[in-house]
Amino acid sequence: MPKFFLPSTAGVVGEMVRFTPEDARHIARVLRLPPGTEVRAADGRGYTYRVLLRTVTPQLVTGEVLAKEEEESEPALKIHLYQSLLKGEKMDWVLQKGTEVGIFAFQPFLSSRSVARPEPAQAGKKQNRWSRIALEAAKQSQRGIIPAVRPLATSETLPWPAGVPALVAWEGEQEKNLRQVLTAIPKPEELILVVGPEGGFARDEVEFFMDRDVLPVSLGPRILRAETAGPVTAALILYHYGEI
Ligand code: SAH
Repeated sequence: MPKFFLPSTAGVVGEMVRFTPEDARHIARVLRLPPGTEVRAADGRGYTYRVLLRTVTPQLVTGEVLAKEEEESEPALKIHLYQSLLKGEKMDWVLQKGTEVGIFAFQPFLSSRSVARPEPAQAGKKQNRWSRIALEAAKQSQRGIIPAVRPLATSETLPWPAGVPALVAWEGEQEKNLRQVLTAIPKPEELILVVGPEGGFARDEVEFFMDRDVLPVSLGPRILRAETAGPVTAALILYHYGEI
């Protein structure tokens, strides 16, 4: 069944909902679904709705909520990927693949070795672009939420909420690999994963994170490209906790 996102919390059974202008065009023009068709729509906040289409025009599509169900495709573990800014289209790739895998939210940040250094206006544009990619990937992969893309931060301004375990993937870590670190952490509700830029983290940057109780973790003897590390590690973490 096709899946759409409703603009906001749709509410209760029996209620009429209106699809986004974009989904309306898609439903009417591309899919050509007639009124009376049942579709699945998500509110982007963890609920799925079975909706019976009523009005179908390219300008306006409405439907009646038949049922509201808790979204089953969402992992119980929310992974926040703190991703160092990467060059060119590599960030797009991280956003797309990370969303497919099941990352909950993306926090891009400037690491001391990030090559790209966008101006604030440019950073805003990039954030919009990444949000768009996350939305498209969420639809395609049938996520129940649209992962949030937070505004660009720096290593110094990254948030470290109390009680949320945080890991930094660091190829300089000699002792602890991912399995060892995760085994010591009972399944959390949220987890932060920090990934470095193309040139890797400077040692003092990792030490800065460690001072904030971020645990360094090795991903093994092979070096992954910066755009590979986030999505792959997120998948491994979800697998470890039984979410894949
Ligand atoms: N330092 C290298 C590679 C950087 S890889 C260089 O100079 O080219 C980019 C990022 O991916 C790293 O900062 C780290 O966060 C992550 N990463 C890749 N392979 C890793 C590994 N084997 N162990 C831990 N982290 C790794």
